[in-house]
Amino acid sequence: MSDGFLFDTFPAAADTPAPVPAPSGADPWHLLIVDDEPEVHAVTRLALGKVRFKDRRLQLHSAYSAAEAEAMLRGPVPFAIVLLDVVMESDDAGLRLVRTIREDVGNRAVRIILRTGQPGQAPEEDVIVGYDINDYKSKTELTTQKLFTTVVAALRSYADITALETSRRGLQQIIDSTDGLLELRCMRQFAAGVLTQITAFLGAPANGILCAQRGSAQGGDSWCEGCASGGMCADDCIHVLAGAGRFAGMGDGPLEHMVTDHAVASAIGEALSRRRTVFASGSTTLYIPVPDGQEVAAWVQTERPLSSLDQALVEVFVSKIAVGFSNVCLYERLKEANEQLEVRVAERTRELAEANASLERLATTDALTGVWNRRHIMDLAGAELSRARRYGRPLSVLLFDLDYFKRVNDTHGHAAGDRALRAVVARARAALRATDSLGRWGGEEFLILLPETGLEEARLVAERVRSAIAAGPVDFDGAGIAISASIGVSAWQEGETSIEQALRRADAALYDAKNAGRNRTAVAA
Ligand code: GH3
Ligand code: MG
Ligand code: MG
Repeated sequence: MSDGFLFDTFPAAADTPAPVPAPSGADPWHLLIVDDEPEVHAVTRLALGKVRFKDRRLQLHSAYSAAEAEAMLRGPVPFAIVLLDVVMESDDAGLRLVRTIREDVGNRAVRIILRTGQPGQAPEEDVIVGYDINDYKSKTELTTQKLFTTVVAALRSYADITALETSRRGLQQIIDSTDGLLELRCMRQFAAGVLTQITAFLGAPANGILCAQRGSAQGGDSWCEGCASGGMCADDCIHVLAGAGRFAGMGDGPLEHMVTDHAVASAIGEALSRRRTVFASGSTTLYIPVPDGQEVAAWVQTERPLSSLDQALVEVFVSKIAVGFSNVCLYERLKEANEQLEVRVAERTRELAEANASLERLATTDALTGVWNRRHIMDLAGAELSRARRYGRPLSVLLFDLDYFKRVNDTHGHAAGDRALRAVVARARAALRATDSLGRWGGEEFLILLPETGLEEARLVAERVRSAIAAGPVDFDGAGIAISASIGVSAWQEGETSIEQALRRADAALYDAKNAGRNRTAVAA
């Protein structure tokens, strides 16, 4: 490399130079020479042709006008540096191009080094302050060495800027991807989401598998249905939670049963046992410690070794995801506890309703026969009376008493008497209508309410009931017990404000029926 000034004596104009071929291996840095003097291109190529920085070659591109340069800068090549002449198609073509690059193209990363042959045309102070350029060189002051130093310094700051930008984009991607993820509440969906996001984030093929292992130290619940159901897994079993790509849709179960690829299984085992993320050339195995006793490892296929920046971003991703796992875990436990609670509350509610219903039954019915007890049949009588009074409707009552019932007990025993009482109730009910009410008045005496029924009709009902009761003997342990009843009939009369008078008349009629020989009906006068 010569130490002489580059541009005081230009070498003879060379033929339009071919671009320096891109070196194999890592991507080169791209530098664009913008100058209307072909000699400047030739000299620059000679001076910079062999530059290497961070193991990457420099690839030189040429543009001979500001317009041509703009077109190239709008293209796909990620230029690191523009070496820019000022005076080209116009006196300030270079300066205008600076504005275009920064404002129209929106490229703030490319380093722009202004090289002018006529410093008077673009005074350094004005230009450095007024334009977004990174360096200003007068062509006359540039030696090969100085150009080299300038270019390497510019490459260094370009590398820093793009690294910052890449990491900013990576972090943004982590924030974006984990935000949606952290809303998931189901462990399996969450695990599948983690795989999707990490493969997208690494630009990796979709092949991946995510496993969990119960932490031996902390205990903790198992997320594996196999483990949870108590069957197939040992305490330290590594179980599959989600798979993607060639591992998709394989369901739950121990890793050793489900994955035959030894390299994958051992990478996962290694990440879990070493408790750290393992970066290999064709894969990355994330280690995700979850603060609840589980540990998670996710194996993801990668096409290239990860850069140190990618590796750092992966660790950021892991730390966010770990919190997500523990949230989902907590949520699932809460959900389960809540479901159990709901089941218990429903059970208790049902038990309470049943208890209430049986209390209600106890309070209103007669324990032996199941008909209304005296208190309740009186309540019903009060209600029927109000209705009859309000609407001027008829209401009748029957009072019946079993004949010579003492003898039944004396002859066959008290249990036979009970059986006969139940049989009487069943026979009487069968002879009544749905709207009639039957209640035990006391001992072997019963009251029947007949709404919407006048005295004559009530007499017919009483006869129906009486003959039903007397229809035949009641069987008790093979013995036939003859049974009959005497019935007194009366009706509520206009102007009576309580049922008592009607009951008294029915009682008197019942007395008459007894006196008249029993097993008969008597109607109150
Ligand atoms: P009458 O025809 O005059 O009514 O004669 P009776 O024997 O039926 O009359 P009494 O009032 O002397 O007897 C009623 C009997 O009814 C006496 C009592 O032991 C019986 N009795 C009352 N309640 C029950 C009961 O719940 N179970 C049984 N087995 N017997 C009862
Ligand atoms: Mg009796
Ligand atoms: Mg009696």
